[in-house]
Order: sequence, then structure tokens, then C-alpha cells
Amino acid sequence: MDYPRYMATNPETPRSTVSLPMPTILTPAPADSPGLSDKFGRQATDLRISLIDKCNLRCTYCMPADGLAWLPKSKLLTLEEISRIVRIGVRDLGVRELRLTGGEPLVRVDLPQIIATVRSEHPDLPISLTTNGVGLAKKAAALKEAGLTRINVSLDTLHAETFAKLTRRDHIDSVFAGIDAALAADLAPVKINAVLMRGINDEQAPELLAWALERGLELRFIEQMPLDADHVWRKDNMVTAADLRAYLETRFRLSPDTKPRDGAPAERFLVSTPQDPDTILGAVGIIASVSEPFCSDCKRTRITAEGKVMSCLFSREETDLSALLRDGSDDRAIAERWRAAMWGKPRAHGMDHTGLGSKDFVQSDRSMSAIGG
Ligand code: SAM
Ligand code: SF4
Repeated sequence: MDYPRYMATNPETPRSTVSLPMPTILTPAPADSPGLSDKFGRQATDLRISLIDKCNLRCTYCMPADGLAWLPKSKLLTLEEISRIVRIGVRDLGVRELRLTGGEPLVRVDLPQIIATVRSEHPDLPISLTTNGVGLAKKAAALKEAGLTRINVSLDTLHAETFAKLTRRDHIDSVFAGIDAALAADLAPVKINAVLMRGINDEQAPELLAWALERGLELRFIEQMPLDADHVWRKDNMVTAADLRAYLETRFRLSPDTKPRDGAPAERFLVSTPQDPDTILGAVGIIASVSEPFCSDCKRTRITAEGKVMSCLFSREETDLSALLRDGSDDRAIAERWRAAMWGKPRAHGMDHTGLGSKDFVQSDRSMSAIGG
């Protein structure tokens, strides 16, 4: 097995290490299907590459507190391999945008070089980064200079104590400084990703939105998904999009944005106040992956930090590209394996109508940090 073993830290978790992913028999994609198509008529154009599995935070909904083995450096995709994957994706397979993620991508020291290399080959490709913002203050200008288009910074609370409870680290000031630096570097639009946890930061949602609106930041709430290494996610304990709207409507008025969603995961709402409904203060996004899934419009294809294709965030199947990248195979062979992996993309993740633990949905052994969110 060549991805990190997660030692379970939750005593209720029924096993102590992860099991192997399901063996996959790849069916080649038909020659006449365009790019990264699947059997259900979708085509993936949005490429997400995880640069590293390591992280400097330990968010409870993502990583365990400890007991985590990192991928050895030799397993991580190199700068050359990443730029080759992007080249094949853009030139041969219809990829139209790139997001770099992790783990924590800022932990990777060659991040500016990765961005600069991809940018030099693809002058018009939108390149975005998802980061927890720790240490971003010193790096934002260099990332912009390297060719980064825009940035998402994750921040679930404005309070140091809540931040420490959620992330098990004490770095909130570094994140605030990083957001300021991203704005100053014009990595626009700067978006903020927030996950709400019941009883911890759910009631802080209106305050977080007010803060984001004041600064011209676009806040997106993401429903907590069953991708935590500790396997403690429970459907009946998560904050749903409906709960969130109810919280926000204690202070704001939300009206659905009528612009076409075009495969975007976030449903956008225009925000005003009940006192002055005609003055739009900004927008908020809600990504309801669990309670209102958008699988039928999904345009994503993911590559993990060690070069495996995951056709879906919740997939238990993965397809290795790293062996082909390292054994002298040509671009065509890599493209065909990637196409075959995407051809097998499931219709939907299945947890919305079946519930966790049913025969249709089994939580992935990978946590969000080991996939690339
Ligand atoms: N470390 C970076 C960060 O936190 O932004 C990038 C990787 S992180 C896996 C990407 C996004 O996934 C973050 O916005 C994080 O809040 C979100 N995330 C992590 N675990 C999640 C979960 N179980 N459910 C929903 N979102 C999750
Ligand atoms: Fe790290 Fe991001 Fe996971 Fe938090 S959500 S532990 S910052 S990878």
C-alpha cells in the first residue's frame, strides 16, 4: 500500500488502520467520447491536483490529532510530473481550469516554481489555490508574481479559541494576515471556505458572513462531508444547508442568484438585510454536497499527491498514473488511462438518499487531506 495509513484516534472507529482501495478493472473510454467523459454524459474540465498530503493544521473534520504517516518525498509528484499532467489535461483532454490543493499546498517549498512552470506553458489557464492561509502573508505576492490567478482561504471562525478547537493549532492571526496579503496582492476574488460544526461554530455563521462582506471577500460554506480521518461524521449531527440558511436569516436576507450555476458546486445567494432588502451587500455560496448534491453537474477530476486519479471525492477506487509517469510511457498512454478512470466515474456519491453506513455508501479510507479538497 502506498498511501498514508491513518491510525484511528476515535475509540468507536471499528478498525485501527485503513484497508486497501477497491481493485479496479478499467474499461477504456470509447474513442469517440470527448476528453474526460463518463458513462453518464458528463465531461470533466476542472482539474484539482493535490501537491502534498502534509498539513500544519489538524482540522477535526479532516485529519486525526496524530498517528498519521506522511507520504515519502519520493512518492510525491514532482514539479515536472505535475506540469506534464497539466499539459496532457489541457492539450489533449479538455481541461479548462486548474486548482492546486492538498494537504496544505503552502507547505510545498517549490509551489511558486510549480505555478510559474504551468503558467509559462498555459498563459490563459485559470490557476487557483486552496490554502489554510498559515504563512500566506509572506508568500501571497510571490504566488501572484508566479502566475496564480486567485485564491481560496479556509477560515471557519473569527475567534482564536474556536479556531484552536477546530484546527488543534493556534494560528488564527497568521490566517488573518494571509487573507490581508491575498487582498493586497490582488489574488481576486479572494474566497473564504468555512465548514460549520454543530455546537462549535454553527452559531457564528452570521458573524462570519458580516466580516466577509465588510472586506469584499466571498464566503462559501461547505457542508461537512464524511471525509474525516477519525470517521466520526454523522449525518444526523451535521449542519445542513437548510440549518445554515436559517442561521444566516436571523440577520440577513438571502435571495438566490439567478446567474446560471454552470457546474459550480456553490449555490450563490445575494445578501441584503431585512431592513434594506434592495441594497445588495455581496454574495454568499453554499456547497451542499451532502444534503443537496450536484453530482449530475460535476466537472471535476482529481489527482492525489502521489499521482492517482480519483473520479469522485467519495470514490473508493483510484487509478495510478505515477507508474506510467515514471516508466517512460508516452503522453498518449497516460491520457488513455486517465480517460478510462474518468469513464468509470460513478453516477453519484449515494450518501444523500441512502445515509451513511448503508450498502450504497461506504466512507473512503482517505481523509480529505489525503485526497485534495
Ligand atoms: N489545507 C487547505 C485548506 O484547508 O484550505 C487545502 C486542503 S483542504 C482539504 C480543502 C478544503 O476542504 C478546505 O476548505 C477544508 O475546509 C475542506 N474540508 C476538509 N475536510 C472537509 C470535510 N470533511 N467536509 C467538508 N469540507 C472539508
Ligand atoms: Fe489541513 Fe486543510 Fe485538512 Fe485543515 S482542512 S487539516 S488545513 S488539509
